[in-house]
Amino acid sequence: MARNPRYDLLFEPVKIGPVTARNRFYAVPHAAGMTNSMPHMRARFRETKAEGGWGVVCTGYVSIDPTSDDAPLPFATLWDEEDVHSHALMTEAVHRHGALAGIELWHGGGSVMNRTSRVPPLSPSGTAWMATHVNFMGHQRPRVMDADDIRQLLTWQADAARRARRAGFDIVYVYAGMGYLPYEFLLPEWNFRTDAYGGSVANRVRLVRELLEVTHEAVGGACAVALRISLEELRARPSERAASQAHEVVELLADLPDLWDVKLDSSPTDCAPSRFAAEGSHEPVIGFVKALTRRPVVGVGRFTSPDTMVGQIRRGVLDLIGAARPSIADPFLPRKIDEGREQDIRECIGCNICISSWHDSVPVRCTQNPTAGEEWRRGWHPERIAPAGSEASVLVVGAGPAGLECALSLGRRGYEVMLAEASEEIGGRLRFETRLPGLAAWGRVLEWRRGQLERLPNVNVYRGNHLSAADILELGVGHVAIATGARWSRRLYSALEIPAAELEGPGVLTPDDIAAGTLPRGPVLVYDFDNYYMGSVLAELLARQGCAVRYVTPAGHAAAWAIMSNEQPHIHRRFAELAITLSTLTRVRDYAGGVATLENQFSGATEAHACAALLIVGARFAHDELFQQLRGDPPALERAGIRSLTRIGDACAPGALVHAIYSGHRFAEELDADREALRYRRDAPLPRREALPRAASLA
Ligand code: ADP
Ligand code: SF4
Repeated sequence: MARNPRYDLLFEPVKIGPVTARNRFYAVPHAAGMTNSMPHMRARFRETKAEGGWGVVCTGYVSIDPTSDDAPLPFATLWDEEDVHSHALMTEAVHRHGALAGIELWHGGGSVMNRTSRVPPLSPSGTAWMATHVNFMGHQRPRVMDADDIRQLLTWQADAARRARRAGFDIVYVYAGMGYLPYEFLLPEWNFRTDAYGGSVANRVRLVRELLEVTHEAVGGACAVALRISLEELRARPSERAASQAHEVVELLADLPDLWDVKLDSSPTDCAPSRFAAEGSHEPVIGFVKALTRRPVVGVGRFTSPDTMVGQIRRGVLDLIGAARPSIADPFLPRKIDEGREQDIRECIGCNICISSWHDSVPVRCTQNPTAGEEWRRGWHPERIAPAGSEASVLVVGAGPAGLECALSLGRRGYEVMLAEASEEIGGRLRFETRLPGLAAWGRVLEWRRGQLERLPNVNVYRGNHLSAADILELGVGHVAIATGARWSRRLYSALEIPAAELEGPGVLTPDDIAAGTLPRGPVLVYDFDNYYMGSVLAELLARQGCAVRYVTPAGHAAAWAIMSNEQPHIHRRFAELAITLSTLTRVRDYAGGVATLENQFSGATEAHACAALLIVGARFAHDELFQQLRGDPPALERAGIRSLTRIGDACAPGALVHAIYSGHRFAEELDADREALRYRRDAPLPRREALPRAASLA
């Protein structure tokens, strides 16, 4: 199909200093959990974006020196020539598809702990980032940088920029964002210096200016020099010379960078979950930049709608449409717009599982795109899949996320697929969850798969079909995938931190009861040891419906795991707005006669709490009775011609949406595949070519 002329603007080339991007689609730097020890995975992951039409594809954060060591968080390095070879794999791969390659050179300053390099971190004034997230905590405080340290930093940046050029990068970054070293110089809370680098905005911006200058000089006009900067805090500060200190900084640097890459300051605001922020939410902070520079500006905002993208450019907010998450969820987003296939875009749902992967220090995972991170390791591709390995037909039972993804991917392979769903509506858990406060965007998981399935004549969807084992044995199919989901249990939480005995009785509810339409009246106690979104979302739902809600958890925070997905700070704020009472480190011991007995997790102190209902959001268990019945009768399976019977998704092992979709996809990829193709490839650093020169800072 032809491209809609309305979107032609998105395909105009953009000059960035000495290089030219072929279009306005810019895959910005983002952590993907792939360090230099995974060079092939990293190269293929980014190559897929270039193949999918992004004009620029960037790395994640790349340390310029061992004084910037974020381990165990997965960061890349460009410390020596060996690292050059490692990154060259990526630039070659990206260039093969006509895209530019950008590298985000990075020094973490006082926000890193240097756990591996064991050298004191550097900081403008010895200020440490006292994060409450355990992954970012440590006890090594930074030392104050003196004039020699500043000179050395500039040398490291210049050396790294030269290496970046040798590695084949087209755009080289100075990174002054997100609490890292140059940002620390910009903010008066970090910077108490009384020398030429502290005090006035002009002084505080000096380090960024010098970093830009040495980078320009190092790349000698062969590469563009980009400045990535966080403007949220600065924008909130008054200035005597400009509309805000952010305006002042941009005015002072105006045309010095070849590209402005503008963002917010903390991961929870910059990469806000869709539950709390809409597409394009950065604009009120960064919208002013373009007016103050002649250089192109790129920014992000979970852009998936081409109309919104065009709007950003026409209204003079951005020149290039930046994307991290939308480029993970759909590496082929630009190609789809170019080919007039907007309806095929697999839109990011803003769940931030991708970000949790970085917090977990593992390669990126994506709810919408199960192939993300698996391009090299498993040979999966977001748009291509191997043809069917046999003529066998497949029955998928259950049209939740796992069943939908499984049926779709099998259908794309060319199998004859029957997808049977007990309910009149497909979607499984999404039918309920996407109606909960803030979770509408998660409906894209269902809607995208629904749209794709409708175009596959070889996949037949049977709604309102609750299948029994006997039904399945009569269908004459070759393979059966059971995707019947999981159920929430009424189990409590024991002192051993495992789900303990079931609590029965009136007023004891689970999320499944709420999904089935039971809505408590009066005060409700939400007891959450699932620690992800469900407990807090249901607390919000009930509070909005007028219930007095007390949220109790044995963990130290509400939705303790949701720190990983950037949701937690927003959840705490939402609880305060809705007057939801929060009790941490607390277990529910019992509930009877409208009174819950609460117990402190550590001290054992108890408290009686009167409430009309106790909603337990704790353990889920597989709903796999159908699978067990079928498996229990091998002769019947054989007589029925069923060659394989497999549990997938929550029916196999309850998890988040990302796990269910991955499981469904994996079954489809691996059906009838030969054993060799199923081998789990392990990436490894490139072999060293020469002895490692001693890094200056460690000498
Ligand atoms: P997952 O997250 O693993 O995809 P869900 O719980 O979201 O699991 O979806 C499971 C789906 O399976 C639900 O829509 C449910 O109605 C359906 N289902 C469960 N048992 C049967 C059955 N015997 N026949 C057909 N569909 C079933
Ligand atoms: Fe978007 Fe979620 Fe995928 Fe991240 S994991 S790219 S937020 S859909």
